[in-house]
Amino acid sequence: MSENAVNRRVIFTGGQMFDGSGTPSVPADVVIRANRIETVLVGGGIEPEPGDQVIDCRGTTVMPGLVESHAHLTFPSAVGHIDPSFNPPLDVSFFHHLPTPDEHLELAKRNAKILLDHGFTSAYSAGSLTPVPTEVRLRDEIAAGTTPGPRMRAASFERDNNPVQMGPNGPTPKATGPAAVREFIAAQAALGFDSVKLLMSNDDVFFEGGSMVTQYSQEEAAAAGEQARESGVWLNCHAQNPESIKLAVRNGFRSVYHCSYADAEAIDLLEEHKDDVFLSPAVGIMWANIHEGAEFGIDTAVAEKIGSVKSLDAMCALYPELRKRGLRVLPGGDYGFPNNPIGRNARDLELFVRLFGYSPAEALKATTYYGGQVLDLPVGLLAPGYLADLLVVQGEPTEDVTVLQDPANLLAIMQDGRFLKLTERLAS
Ligand SMILES: [Zn+2]
Repeated sequence: MSENAVNRRVIFTGGQMFDGSGTPSVPADVVIRANRIETVLVGGGIEPEPGDQVIDCRGTTVMPGLVESHAHLTFPSAVGHIDPSFNPPLDVSFFHHLPTPDEHLELAKRNAKILLDHGFTSAYSAGSLTPVPTEVRLRDEIAAGTTPGPRMRAASFERDNNPVQMGPNGPTPKATGPAAVREFIAAQAALGFDSVKLLMSNDDVFFEGGSMVTQYSQEEAAAAGEQARESGVWLNCHAQNPESIKLAVRNGFRSVYHCSYADAEAIDLLEEHKDDVFLSPAVGIMWANIHEGAEFGIDTAVAEKIGSVKSLDAMCALYPELRKRGLRVLPGGDYGFPNNPIGRNARDLELFVRLFGYSPAEALKATTYYGGQVLDLPVGLLAPGYLADLLVVQGEPTEDVTVLQDPANLLAIMQDGRFLKLTERLAS
């Protein structure tokens, strides 16, 4: 980078600013130097200096880039690229004609670009579709600046705990028990993943009643926690039933997904650990299965059979309570299916508002400020020293979060101090 680029300032002036903290939007100027936020001046009035790039944000909202908290960038369906061959449980033929590692990386790169173009400047992965470390390569290419995409935390293949492993050559025996769990986690850490994903509970999608089946013993969960600390990786898990949630929380899992059927004890335990744990309900897929799946064979009867109706009902009772108790619940999750493609992710914010009782500002805070926390990166807040990942949005998202669903409303997308998008209206 030249000296000029290092010191170049960009001034977003004249707009409303939502800083990510959850407080209402206020008029403010935001100054970027190189890839960091240098100054935030409430009320505005920054004086440009020669060489500054001034972005006239009148009539718009400047806010942090969005964070997807439960990404699956190796899933095949994205907006404009629907792939019905990964549509469980109706069609999983994707696994019978798996892409080569290079082809799968290309698919993931396409998805990463689409997610970024929809305003998500960071993504926390909730699991890879295959055991191949495609996400590690993707994360590293994005970090190196050779591939456009959200800043990423990569997650391993999702480990169930069946004593039988299905594979291209039929079923083969798989080791279970604490030693096998440790071995898996150490191996994923060695491959370069940031986190390891375990299916602590099964799910109704895989067989009726599956959500109530806990897959890991206390000994296995404890071994997972110990090995993850030793290997320096985070633990994520799919957990639907109360027992699986409690096992996860008690053993140091950092992200716990879905949690639909949490009981009173699980809710209290989550509250006790609210400074250590992040939750992603992945409400979008439940909504999509119930309301937007018919085209792909997921009619009402199927949505009931795979547990979506029951799960969404349970979430609508649970998450308003977890919101009241101050849990860090993050929008996003399970985009990548044909009826819930990558790119539609911002719809989760609307569902938080409509179904869980969040105010628009609370839903935005959960997607930005808490997003930065789950990534453990200085993003998600417009404050001096934070990385310059910003959106300029047409409209007032703190009044209506649905404006974020139309990429045409994203007048500018800045990541790491560089414009990935800058509409003419702002540039002139
Ligand atoms: Zn998922």
